[in-house]
Amino acid sequence: MGNVTRTEHKLTERSYKCGHCGIDAVMLIVCQGKHTLTDERSLGDIWFTDLYELLLCPSCNTVNLIKTSYDSETSPIDYDGDEYDITVEYLFPRIKSGNFKNLPSLVEKSYATATKLRKIEPIASVIFSRKSLEAICDNQKATGRNLKDRIDNLAQKGAIPELLKEAAHSVRLLGNEGAHELDAEVSADDAETLLALCDAIIGYVYEAPQLVQTIQERLAKSKKEP
Ligand SMILES: [Zn+2]
Repeated sequence: MGNVTRTEHKLTERSYKCGHCGIDAVMLIVCQGKHTLTDERSLGDIWFTDLYELLLCPSCNTVNLIKTSYDSETSPIDYDGDEYDITVEYLFPRIKSGNFKNLPSLVEKSYATATKLRKIEPIASVIFSRKSLEAICDNQKATGRNLKDRIDNLAQKGAIPELLKEAAHSVRLLGNEGAHELDAEVSADDAETLLALCDAIIGYVYEAPQLVQTIQERLAKSKKEP
């Protein structure tokens, strides 16, 4: 192809993960629109806004539809890094946290928060990764006096293999550091690593059994058909 020109678009001020090619990039804003609800009794002081953006990925040239929600309490989007309570939802393509389909709601909740905070508040993120582990232990009815014992119990009864037991202990230890040490130095990379370890545990405990069941049902079906 010869020289091409592109329609000019404004760029987003932060990077987004493209739901098609997976790249983390500043995107081109094709269009955007806001929808705000204001509480009349508050004389305009209390409001909730949803910002819808159609963003074009510069790498794969496809669009992502993203909804960003904020309100009078969380203040408008402040790109100086104060985006603590802003909720970003990927409407298209749909990106659920980690794309897990079979998570119990308490695990999902902590895991989603850990994912959301991994770049902006790594310390909070590792604490929520640890909470995800606690929720997994609750859900799997692990016994023990503390999280350390309960992780060992999970491995003892075969709910997770030895390697994932080590993964779980790493999440627990760094999560402890984040929660209890005032001068804890936790980087965004640390938070990312803990999430990847949580992914491995969640994949083993909740996703793999479902996938195995699906494929077994599929195989049983093809056996019946001559
Ligand atoms: Zn892309």
